[in-house]
Amino acid sequence: MTKAISYAAHDPKSPLAPFAFERREVGAEDVEIEILFCGVCHSDLHQARDEWGNSTFPMVPGHEIVGRVTRVGSAVKKFKAGDLAGVGCLVDSCGGCPDCADGLEQYCNHSVFTYNSPDKHTGKSTYGGYSNLIVVDERFTLKISDKLDLAATAPLLCAGITTYSPLRHWKVGKGHKVGIVGLGGLGHMGLKFAHAFGAHTVLFTTSPGKAEDAKRLGADEVVISKDAAQMAEHLQSFDFILNTVAAPHDLDQFMSLLKRDGSMCLVGVPDSPHPSPSVGNLIFKRRTLAGSLIGGIQETQEMLDFCAEHNITSDIELIPIQEINEAFERMLKSDIKYRFVIDIASLKQAA
Ligand SMILES: [Zn+2]
Ligand SMILES: [Zn+2]
Repeated sequence: MTKAISYAAHDPKSPLAPFAFERREVGAEDVEIEILFCGVCHSDLHQARDEWGNSTFPMVPGHEIVGRVTRVGSAVKKFKAGDLAGVGCLVDSCGGCPDCADGLEQYCNHSVFTYNSPDKHTGKSTYGGYSNLIVVDERFTLKISDKLDLAATAPLLCAGITTYSPLRHWKVGKGHKVGIVGLGGLGHMGLKFAHAFGAHTVLFTTSPGKAEDAKRLGADEVVISKDAAQMAEHLQSFDFILNTVAAPHDLDQFMSLLKRDGSMCLVGVPDSPHPSPSVGNLIFKRRTLAGSLIGGIQETQEMLDFCAEHNITSDIELIPIQEINEAFERMLKSDIKYRFVIDIASLKQAA
């Protein structure tokens, strides 16, 4: 067992505070990573405050982890001490079901999430990346390129793959008109990927002030979704819409913008349901309303390699871990362009 230091939520109401615990011994198939940076995802905030009703405490959030390998087990083949490595939302799965066989571990009924998930090894809960080290099975450890800014790479492990995977699944590319709804941590990555895949990319936002930034990030057009006239100009014209908004809203206004056989995929998780979309909007143009959850390990590696090749990272604000509670409050106000990343070096100074 190795002592680890972290910031943890001790209950749903209190601010995150320092917490010491132990990581498991490095097993034959394990990689030990000194965490250097960890992105701050909206789901960290939801779970730290028990807003999804499944939280266990103390909780060390964080599933956008990058760092350097310090030790590897005797059977590890892909990593050696000194390598850069990443860990996303998953640290284990059953390995035997159809989802696992297809490399879609995120859909396995027995997948183990990086934090707030029952840990087979310790019998406790898994603890995430707001900490100085982590021990992870090699199969769930990702290769990280040294070509990219390391801090700005961290959010690729959740925000990146969550948007990359559906754009790939629906084969978005040249000749397609693609909408991205919402310009936050997920939306800004969706813009970058849709643009990189060669699609004509349209950002939908309620804030006119975001137009200029959206164009810088890859939008060919920006539509203010509150403006009915602007929306009407785009009726029945989209091949695919990626909807990243996590607040309940009217889905029909976007469904009606899809062409025949077009699809809208939801990746934001609202606290309360969206109003149910109209069946007419679906059947008259054979449209599809779908959802997608992060991505499998193989696809996450493919995404990371794609980002290294095309120089894609997240737009971030780097913070010391002592500012995590303020960062949560600012996220609630969407006061972040577009992802907070914790500089884990600040944790050592605090300890
Ligand atoms: Zn996340
Ligand atoms: Zn499985």
